[in-house]
Order: sequence, then C-alpha cells, then structure tokens
Amino acid sequence: MIPRTLFSPEHDLFRETVRRFVENEITPHHAKWEKAGEVPRELWRKAGETGLLCPNVPEEYGGMGGDFLHSAIMMEEMARAGATGPTFYLHSDIVAPYFVDFGTEEQKRKWLPKMATGEVVVAVGMTEPSSGSDLQGMRTTAVRDGDEYVINGQKVFITNGTTADVLVLACKTDPKAGGKGVSLILVETDRKGFERGRRLEKIGCKAQDTAELFFANLRVPVTNLLGQEGRGFIHLMTQLTQERLIQAIRAVAASEAMLQWTIEYVSQRQMFGQTLADFQNTQFKLAEMHSEILGQRVLVDRCIELHLHGKLDPVDAASAKMITTETQGKVADQCLQLFGGWGFMWEYPIARAYADARMTRIGGGATEVMKQIIGRSLLPSLRKKREPERPAAEV
Ligand SMILES: Cc1cc2nc3c(=O)[nH]c(=O)nc-3n(C[C@H](O)[C@H](O)[C@H](O)COP(=O)(O)OP(=O)(O)OC[C@H]3O[C@@H](n4cnc5c(N)ncnc54)[C@H](O)[C@@H]3O)c2cc1C
Repeated sequence: MIPRTLFSPEHDLFRETVRRFVENEITPHHAKWEKAGEVPRELWRKAGETGLLCPNVPEEYGGMGGDFLHSAIMMEEMARAGATGPTFYLHSDIVAPYFVDFGTEEQKRKWLPKMATGEVVVAVGMTEPSSGSDLQGMRTTAVRDGDEYVINGQKVFITNGTTADVLVLACKTDPKAGGKGVSLILVETDRKGFERGRRLEKIGCKAQDTAELFFANLRVPVTNLLGQEGRGFIHLMTQLTQERLIQAIRAVAASEAMLQWTIEYVSQRQMFGQTLADFQNTQFKLAEMHSEILGQRVLVDRCIELHLHGKLDPVDAASAKMITTETQGKVADQCLQLFGGWGFMWEYPIARAYADARMTRIGGGATEVMKQIIGRSLLPSLRKKREPERPAAEV
C-alpha cells in the first residue's frame, strides 16, 4: 500500500478514539437500529461526550477546533465499519458549515455548542417530490409577514427528518426570481405548522432515518434567516466542493473495507480441495479492485490536502465523487459475487454494503450531473453555462 502522509500523530490518536467508539457503541447495535429505522438519540449524546461531533467547528462555538482531517477520519472510520446509520458527517460536515459560514453570531452561539454535544440534531431540507437534481424547481415558500416568515410546502427524502430538532430549510422567498429567490431558513421542529410524514422505507442505509416533512403556515421570526435573503442557492453552492469530497472520502473507505472483508473471506472459504483464494479468477478480481481503489485513495488524499488549503477545484471534486462512487458500486458487486449465497444474506456486512452503495451514485449530485459538470468544464464554449448541479444534502 502506498503510505498515507496526511495525518499527524495527534490525528492517529483521534482515529483510535473514533475506532474504539465505533467498535463499542455502534457496530454491536447497528442491526437493531436497521430494524428500528433510526439510531437512538442517546448515541448522539455519547458521540458528543466523546468529542466526535463537529470536530471542525471552532472551539469558541463548542467544537473541537480541529481541521478537516479530523472530519475525514470520522467519515473513514464510520464507512470502514459500514456504519451508515449515524449520520454524523451530515450533521458535522454538511450542515454545521452553513452555521459557521453564514450564521449570525447569535445563531452560532445558540446552535453550534448544542450540536457539538449532540443535544441538538440537525438536518437539511432541499429536495421536494418534484425537484431533486433541479433544485431551482422547488415550491416551498417563505413569505415575509412583518417580522416573520410564513412557510408552506413540503420536503422529501430528508435525512434525520424524524429526529432533527432544527432544519436548514431551502425556501423560495421570491418565487419569481428563480435561483435568486431561494433563501435558507432555520426551522425548529417544535413549531406549530410543522408535521413529519412517513419515515421512508429504503433498500439500504436502513438505520438512517429518512422522512417526508410538511410545513403549513409555519411561522418563524425573520432572525431565523441563515445568510442573506435571496442568496440561499449561492450559499448552498459554496459548500459543493466539500460535499463532493465527503462523498469521495466515504466511497473510497467503503471500497477498501469491502475488499478487506473479501480477502479474509476467500482466504478461508474451502471448495474443490483448495480455498477460494487459490483460484486465479479470485486473485485477478482482487488485483483489479485493489489497484483501482489504490489509485482512488491517492487521488482522494491529494484532494483532501488541497481542500485543507482551500485549493480544491469543485470540478476536480466532482471527478473524485464520480469515480469513487462508481467504483464503490462495482466493488460491492464483485465482492458480493465472491461471497456467493452468503453475500446475499443480510447478516453479512457485504450484503448491507452492497445495498448502501447504491445510494452514493444518486445523492450528492447524481453521476450524470457530475459528468455534465466535468464535461462542460472541458469544453471552452460551455464553461460559462450554469452548473446543472444542486447541492448534495443526502446521505
Ligand atoms: C437516502 C437518501 C437521503 C437523502 N437525504 C437528503 C437530505 O437530507 N436532504 C435533501 O434535501 N435531500 C436528500 N436526499 C435527496 C437527494 O439529494 C436526491 O435524491 C438527489 O438530489 C436526486 O434527486 P431526485 O431523487 O429527485 O432525482 P431526479 O432529480 O429526478 O434525478 C433522477 C435521475 O435523473 C438523472 N439526471 C439528473 N440530472 C441529470 C442531468 N443533469 N443530466 C442527465 N441526467 C440527469 C440521474 O440519473 C438521476 O439519478 C436524499 C435521498 C436519499 C435517497
């Protein structure tokens, strides 16, 4: 393996803490949470106590004051264990940055410390039944009425939807202005007019709670506006590079884990008087997957390094997202094949990983959206066209 050079000894210690937490507090319970369709709130508080939430948020707002490498370690260790239920990365590295980057001092002081302790769980609501990739088609409105916004509409596929205390909600504050009429508004879920719909049944990521949300004449004070009115879409777009990189980090770590489980399995599985590992076909498959993942590991580490210096290009992040998630799907399929019928059994991590992997080519910008972004960037005549992209906000 090409050695990784990104992490300091302090990061390595943090990784050990995360790994212990995952082994003790998550892995033994994950199957139970899959049946429940959500993880218990207690887990969020334990993660907060252990200092695992909001690692990248400044200390003055209750975070660890770490860097993006701490966040990457969290994502890698969770992905390595196939722990797709607890959506810490969404809370800490997709939603918290909206507060840090666009929140008022009051909003930051009110919410970030509680997010870091796990007392408050957050979600982001963008997708609607009729608008996913094309976010500008959203219909949820927030109409100004004196010192309040009145919100009406609905969202779908919202991760943490049934458990979140606060939503970062994308709304049209000026429906006639297209992308320029979108604003981000903080919505506390105990407000009158908020209703949670079904918790949606999914084919994978089953311990993750994913819900429909409804808003009927829900009133929030105008001080709940996050960032500037009408600049919500731009605020969302500024986070795209990190969101794409997060998907790439998770995908490559999941691929590495699947390959490792498969190496262990084929080494002990007996058939025809030898192990499954003794077949040339097995060795060739492992070699192909290993080499592809290795290349992506080096790419993703370089992207992380650039991102730490604020120099990662969003199009390069799109390339990383696209190829790592495509590979994740391929690796899941080929590894499962080597597990035979056992690979089709839910009790085997590879079966869960196979189902979970299907999501990553859709969310965070579908593969086709990534291709369009990358393709246009290569063609001078098309470079200036609006990105067909929507922000990630999925799991
Ligand atoms: C488990 C899960 C969790 C999620 N969590 C959240 C969340 O927390 N918050 C949130 O707001 N949303 C969330 N989402 C929604 C997610 O972001 C959307 O599913 C995603 O953006 C795709 O939108 P869509 O499902 O409406 O598909 P559509 O936009 O209808 O796209 C369908 C397909 O059309 C094709 N396509 C799309 N655009 C293009 C293009 N430009 N060129 C060519 N082909 C294209 C792709 O193949 C795509 O898969 C979640 C979704 C899932 C499944």
